[in-house]
Amino acid sequence: MPYRTETESRKLLGRLRQALAADSAGQERLDEVVALIADSMETEVCSIYLFRDAETLELCATQGLQQEAVHQTRLRLGEGLVGLTARTRRVVNTANAPSAKGFRYMPETGEERYSSFCGIPIQRLGEVLGVLVVQSKAAREFTPDEVYALEIVAMVIAEMTELGAFVGEGAALSARHQQAVMFRGTVAQEGASEGKVFLHEPRVVVTNPISEDPDTELARLRTAVDQLRRSVDSMLTGARSVDADQIQVLEAYRMFANSSSWIKRMEEDVGNGLSAEAAVEKEQSLSRARLGKAADPYMRERLSDLDDLSNRLLRILTGQGVDARADMPENPILVARNIGPGELLEYGKKLKGIVLEEGSVGSHATIVARAWAIPLVINAKGITREALNGDTILVDGEQGIAHLRPDDTVHTAFRDKIAMQTRAQERYASIRDLPATAKCGTTISLQMNAGLMADLPSLQGSGAEGVGLFRTELQFLIRNQMPRRGELSALYSRVLKAAQGKRVAFRTLDIGSDKVLPYMKPNDEPNPAMGWRAIRVGLDKPGVLRMQLQALIRAAAGAPLAVMFPFVTQTNEFRAAKAEMDKAIARETRLGLPLPARLEVGAMLETPSLAYAPDAFFEEVDFISIGGNDLKQFFFAADRENERVRKRYDTLDSSFLSFVQHVIARCEKANTPLSFCGEDAGRPVEALCFAALGLRTLSMRPASIGPVKHLIRRVDLGEVRAVMDEAIANGDQSVRRAVSDWLVYQV
Ligand code: PEP
Ligand code: MG
Repeated sequence: MPYRTETESRKLLGRLRQALAADSAGQERLDEVVALIADSMETEVCSIYLFRDAETLELCATQGLQQEAVHQTRLRLGEGLVGLTARTRRVVNTANAPSAKGFRYMPETGEERYSSFCGIPIQRLGEVLGVLVVQSKAAREFTPDEVYALEIVAMVIAEMTELGAFVGEGAALSARHQQAVMFRGTVAQEGASEGKVFLHEPRVVVTNPISEDPDTELARLRTAVDQLRRSVDSMLTGARSVDADQIQVLEAYRMFANSSSWIKRMEEDVGNGLSAEAAVEKEQSLSRARLGKAADPYMRERLSDLDDLSNRLLRILTGQGVDARADMPENPILVARNIGPGELLEYGKKLKGIVLEEGSVGSHATIVARAWAIPLVINAKGITREALNGDTILVDGEQGIAHLRPDDTVHTAFRDKIAMQTRAQERYASIRDLPATAKCGTTISLQMNAGLMADLPSLQGSGAEGVGLFRTELQFLIRNQMPRRGELSALYSRVLKAAQGKRVAFRTLDIGSDKVLPYMKPNDEPNPAMGWRAIRVGLDKPGVLRMQLQALIRAAAGAPLAVMFPFVTQTNEFRAAKAEMDKAIARETRLGLPLPARLEVGAMLETPSLAYAPDAFFEEVDFISIGGNDLKQFFFAADRENERVRKRYDTLDSSFLSFVQHVIARCEKANTPLSFCGEDAGRPVEALCFAALGLRTLSMRPASIGPVKHLIRRVDLGEVRAVMDEAIANGDQSVRRAVSDWLVYQV
């Protein structure tokens, strides 16, 4: 008989609540749930399938099918109508199941006798946990009211599954969030650490999916929505008028918070027996499912806004996760979908590791994590769903793996690895104050890359001789508005003070490509890495460049100053940028302010074109630094952010080395100091080969200085060069193999 009214749905939930509250075991509870749904819906069959692993659904309880099939019948994701429901996350409702596309006959269940089929995904916040199925002999589609009632029930089953209400024997009934799980991602910062999960966005746990009294729940929901509206309004009032993007997001929040259809749907769900929290989550699940499918970037952004708003509403209703930082465990390992550099900076260096579902090797958050040497694994798909606050987690930044709730064997092996790392660190500390002098007597100057004040203590701790690259854009990226000249000047002066006379090469603002300032209108470019970026922006809109140069000169306050321009591709660009520096010096002279005792103006060589610039360029420039990260992507035509192509090309490829050799020769001829400051400078074997080619200054993240120095001190660079030359003469694509094999017998 077709399902009827709101009260029927409420009655069913009332019966469910009683069944779930009873003191029975997981399987018993599930059996009761299917029996009472079948009875209440007046259908012959009701079954629940749950995932036993990521790909397999298992029949866990049934009323109407053969009992022997329970825990025996399994379907792969996408297989049969049940698998189809799970894969598409959509209701499958058909009057004639055996002739429906995708139907799969399973003799052990005896289901061929049932004509109609309705499968409802059991999902929680976008994650499908299983499928609820009702079937009947009569060939009819289930009515929208019936489907709606089943969706509400599926929602409650999802919540109860999450809470462990059906835990019992076997994989499909095992407790969620308790087994060991390994996540394989991508290495973004090496290192190994052990700690406790600290979720950037803690999961809100709904313990009461079914309401006892709809009127009270409705009042709770309305009060919470009112509070949400007020908080959005006050955020909007507090937002700075210049921050157009932030205002746009808040406007979207306000629109949703006042959306009558959103609120009406939640009120209806409450009217039908859900608690206020469960009603919010039901809507959130739907919008997450849409988010998973939306291709349009605008649509995706708005759906994420709605998701964020739902989280806020849930936090208001449950009081959970209001002050996340207060609950930070000891040795926190941050687990998040993604994170911006500003938020990361707020957590600070107390984080012991970071695991992200998204992220990229070249992102700002990665740069911050690298600067702090915090092990970071990115692309760890699904970890935010699995991890709970406080779970034990091991981050293996060498392999790009995170072990969540590891078993004893993994744990012990990992501790051995950490102990080995500690011993290596002790070895590096013992040579900290010694020079990186190879056995042949050649000394390499090892410098560090920095970008934040927080990096500066490493200058003393790592034994770096100076800062070979100070990425000034990080200071711009972590703010909500353009910093003023005074602020910049004060900051640069603190950097110079902390450097205690060691040389700091400040690189002027390098924005564009993946580095987008939150307060600058993004450029819609088809290929931003080759677009309007770095010095191109500086020359076209010179206001910021001028302000920065002035701030640097003032910060130097009469002391020596080194400045370099990013992404210079031709002589004229360098000349135009240098002219800005000349003008800045002239201005300071006119004002009678102190000038740097010595001024070096350099260029970063990040595109092949600059290596073939006229001799005049090499003579005019005070120094050159090879930005290998960008240079490699243009040399090999392989996007540095694209994991698929990035790793295909080896830095020790003979063509690339021959190119670097060419740059070294041109600099030697013009007597121009040359350094290398891309990530490869911090990889010991790469660093060794660069030194053997003739590079005398390498700039890297502080944590790499120890390992690079350790290796350089143990070899003769002439011998390394001979091995490289021989490999190249043999026609090897890369010298890596030859050099690594040779090293085995040296160190
Ligand atoms: C480089 O490209 O190698 C470099 C050092 O600059 P960034 O990584 O900041 O683009
Ligand atoms: Mg670069």
